[in-house]
Amino acid sequence: MADDLMQCTVCGYIHVGTDLPDCCPVCGVEKELFEKKQAPDSKAAEAAPTAWRCLICNYLHEGPVPPESCPVCGAGADQFEPVFKQVQPTGKVDSADAIVIVGAGISGISAAEAARKTAPQAKISVISREADLPYYRINLTRYLAGELTTEQLLIHPAQWYEDNAIELHLGVEVTAVDVRNKTLGLSSRDTISYDKLILSMGAHSFVPPVGGATKAHVKTLRTQKDAAEILEAARPEKSCVVIGGGVLGLETGAALARRGVSVTIIEGFDWLLPRQLNRAAGERLAGYVEALGVRLICGGRVRELAGEQAVSGVVLESGEVVPADMVIFAAGVRCNSALARQAELEVNNGILVDNSMRTSNADIFAVGDVAEHQGVIYGTWMPAQHQGKVAGINAAGGQARFTGIPRSSILKVLDVDLFSVGEVHPDDGSFQLFEDHDDDRYAFFVFRNARLVGAILMGDTGLSARLKELIESQASCAEILAEAATAADIRQGLLSGPRVS
Ligand SMILES: Cc1cc2nc3c(=O)[nH]c(=O)nc-3n(C[C@H](O)[C@H](O)[C@H](O)COP(=O)(O)OP(=O)(O)OC[C@H]3O[C@@H](n4cnc5c(N)ncnc54)[C@H](O)[C@@H]3O)c2cc1C
Repeated sequence: MADDLMQCTVCGYIHVGTDLPDCCPVCGVEKELFEKKQAPDSKAAEAAPTAWRCLICNYLHEGPVPPESCPVCGAGADQFEPVFKQVQPTGKVDSADAIVIVGAGISGISAAEAARKTAPQAKISVISREADLPYYRINLTRYLAGELTTEQLLIHPAQWYEDNAIELHLGVEVTAVDVRNKTLGLSSRDTISYDKLILSMGAHSFVPPVGGATKAHVKTLRTQKDAAEILEAARPEKSCVVIGGGVLGLETGAALARRGVSVTIIEGFDWLLPRQLNRAAGERLAGYVEALGVRLICGGRVRELAGEQAVSGVVLESGEVVPADMVIFAAGVRCNSALARQAELEVNNGILVDNSMRTSNADIFAVGDVAEHQGVIYGTWMPAQHQGKVAGINAAGGQARFTGIPRSSILKVLDVDLFSVGEVHPDDGSFQLFEDHDDDRYAFFVFRNARLVGAILMGDTGLSARLKELIESQASCAEILAEAATAADIRQGLLSGPRVS
């Protein structure tokens, strides 16, 4: 396998096989800049990628080569990067413990799968208060847009759970954890015992304390049931206001606009994605949103929701009333940590866990959107999947560690590729800024003391791996800056040097 590894000398992308593509799918340089990657013989197996991560949605595909296309977001094979340090089960163990998993999102299902691989004899149960078979939550907006059916949302077909002897309890809520007797109370009034417990209850949508938020036809989008209810109300002659111009709000608004709903998105900041984008990039993104026929109100402060029983509009602080047959809050999420607090586990914003995903109780693990690891609640798909695997292996008697992963800044919003990294809001004269744009793309580079400290790419994100590497390594870019006059020169310079070893 090691003989077939070719590495891009610019961005580090690994190509498996000697038949190279014409240019590097990550940074775009020509194939002449690839070189054979030599791995020490004894380590050959470890040098080969064990998985591939989709650069768009973070989907993790296991295997030595990337899939033809991403089953989650549809991105092509060239949008996958190799992953070398996959969590490896330490081999099978003969534990016959009862492992109970609360929550059947991606972290819970990944935990069940890893536990089964590690301990073939273990009794594994997954309890979910949702009635639907576990599904790709991140694809709900594509489902809203009519791009996917409910069957295509499924993580596994029903038969998979039977084949893997994973007992699924759907439509059942865990209402209490008795840590002394190691039992769970269920909404069905039954109890279930555990030897090892994995908490993967995820998060719920946050609804800000705005007057009128409990009126009929005020929604959030977190579950398949939420999506079905929104679809029910989404008729072409209807109007909808989405409150929140983050990724979820934009994707939800665009999905409904595609169905002919008259959509307005209200964002409290002066431009879209203010954490990731500067004003120029945010305004450019706004252009894409408006081109879909969506009305955008940036800097809009919501005073209250109008209407009798059902919502009829959104009243802004400016006095304007935006008519709405339906209002969707897309204003962030909060952890479902109540069970853990009741069980007296240590909880900050999320349930505190160590590198093995153990909570303050050695027999209880927590993963995904409900877990807080080294001060971070990731709130995204790939870390939830990764943490689930680690906890599943450990709960089953194996050994695995989660030591954190860099937070990804690659986004795909409304089919626009975006990349944002580091400092993108320089606030004094000590930074050197370069901005470059044409009809299809936008680039913004921020340097300080001859080092790249931040960047935004929009439309063409081919340089993203290279930029990330330069920022993380703090490599000097003095030579590039000395010769560059424009952002286009900078782009070219960043592509060709300096080397980071
Ligand atoms: C519409 C949408 C789009 C998204 N898009 C992206 C994206 O593009 N990229 C990305 O990285 N992330 C995205 N996310 C976030 C991503 O989906 C989450 O980070 C991920 O699903 C977290 O997985 P989880 O298993 O931790 O929790 P969840 O998926 O929230 O699953 C937790 C499950 O536990 C259940 N549960 C809770 N309490 C109990 C209880 N007491 N008893 C029984 N069951 C319980 C919940 O009902 C839920 O089914 C998106 C989220 C949404 C909603």
